[in-house]
Amino acid sequence: MINILFAAHPDRWDEYQAPLTKALNEAGLIFDMRTEFSPEQVDYIVYAPNSALQDFTPYTNCRAVLNLWAGVENIVGNQTLRMPLARMIDRGMTRGMVEWVTGHVMRHHLGMDSHIFGQDGQWRSEIAPLACDRPVTILGMGTLGQACAEALTNLEFPVTGWSRTPKSLPGITALSGEAQLEKSLESAQIVILLLPLTAETQGVINTQRLAALPKGAVLINAGRGPLIDDAALLACLDADHLGHATLDVFDIEPLPVEHVFWHHPKITVTPHIASATRPTSSSKVIAENIRRGEAGEALLHLVDRHTGY
Ligand code: NDP
Repeated sequence: MINILFAAHPDRWDEYQAPLTKALNEAGLIFDMRTEFSPEQVDYIVYAPNSALQDFTPYTNCRAVLNLWAGVENIVGNQTLRMPLARMIDRGMTRGMVEWVTGHVMRHHLGMDSHIFGQDGQWRSEIAPLACDRPVTILGMGTLGQACAEALTNLEFPVTGWSRTPKSLPGITALSGEAQLEKSLESAQIVILLLPLTAETQGVINTQRLAALPKGAVLINAGRGPLIDDAALLACLDADHLGHATLDVFDIEPLPVEHVFWHHPKITVTPHIASATRPTSSSKVIAENIRRGEAGEALLHLVDRHTGY
């Protein structure tokens, strides 16, 4: 019998109990899954970083912590977590991110706001350039960045992708490392942030990097709020250098009601909904990892504690 502790926010149990049970059964596992156990009895923890469980010390027999979120910045540095930590790569989450990013890119590319908010009797006949004349840069070329790059390339946007390590990706200008960051920004009319939050990426979008963008560029942040220096962002928008910022993630979430971002005419706030882990598809990922753990196979999507993602 495999004992599985479900240690996400209590609201999630109702969503996950049925699909996880189904996926674990389909993986041929004999298990007992609950929201409470004696810690020493637990074999695997299905986890979300906003769980009440923060001290892993008593889970002496736990073989792995399986995160339901893609982002691990709130758990990767936990010194009590000594067992392997896997993050979530879920097809449903990836497709959701592709749809959100593509939608917001198309909004800015086509200048849709001028028609949606401009129903004032004026015949605005300005034609948007074709996608092939609108360079897009994606910072973060992992699971989500690459999927978005593929979708945008299929729409014929010229895509530049920036990552920590060098890559070769068909149809994409691939740049890497700090030395090539500004080069990746200098022709970008639309920039999409899909970086994890680590010690190295915190504040990566600062005054200097914003100044490297061409005038009128649009910034779309679906990564994490602290990737951006907020004061630098506001200054750049107010100086009319940056055209618009669409922000899904923030230093403090929920974004406080009095926060300047809510009222800024050149900022669009979305409430961390760019994409979510989908219970049905992610349950299969969790079940596969437990099956692997039981079979002595390498776990999928392990987090590198050194790089922090
Ligand atoms: P991955 O780990 O697959 O990819 C991360 C990418 O960032 C990699 O290309 C990596 O480079 C790059 N990177 C990391 N550190 C650096 C650095 N110092 N310099 C340059 N590039 C760097 O992550 P995912 O694509 O799965 O997810 C990305 C992030 O998206 C998550 O961490 C999370 O914060 C956010 N997210 C937001 C959601 C939302 O709803 N808003 C939903 C899901 C995720 P390399 O390829 O060389 O390793």
